Amino acid sequence: MEIADIVKNYERMPDFELIRIATSDAQGLRPEVFEIIENELKKRNLDTNLLNGAKAQNKEHSKEEIYGYATVLAVLPCPICGSTLKKLNGTIRHTVKSFIFFTSHSTEPVIACPDCLDKENNSATLSTALLGWWGLPWGLIKTPQYIYKNQQSKKQNHVTYLNEVLLSYTLENIGRIESYKNDKIKLQEIIKKKS
Ligand SMILES: [Zn+2]
Repeated sequence: MEIADIVKNYERMPDFELIRIATSDAQGLRPEVFEIIENELKKRNLDTNLLNGAKAQNKEHSKEEIYGYATVLAVLPCPICGSTLKKLNGTIRHTVKSFIFFTSHSTEPVIACPDCLDKENNSATLSTALLGWWGLPWGLIKTPQYIYKNQQSKKQNHVTYLNEVLLSYTLENIGRIESYKNDKIKLQEIIKKKS
């Protein structure tokens, strides 16, 4: 695409789309495009920190930097119970649900305080046990596997270090964390539970 066309494209873009690209979808953008984004942000009086978020998605990060970003999330209040007593960490909710003609399974990361993480794995286990097993054949095969996976995930819920789930969640959301590192409300949106 010609640069002039890209410029036009960005000029026409609604704010929410520009913000989405800058914070979450900037990986692999051509270097010239950053300048275009910067111009648009300024023109529209939007926070130019969003540009740093776009750049952060295109950088190699050292382990220390990723830990730094993860800590920004870990010290937020728990998105489920609101507690600030313990550092947040991550877990994966593994669920299986069978319907008449098919079985669906999902793995969803959750960021919360250790006690809420346990509850998430427990409720995923319970709902899988109740709703997963009766689909043939996958329900029967996947149900015990996924219950086991929840038990495995739970082992990382109370560790004192920032666990792998939190670190990979951080890496996936690094653009948004960088963009909003001074905006607690926006940071809380990043870790809000999806469903
Ligand atoms: Zn909690």
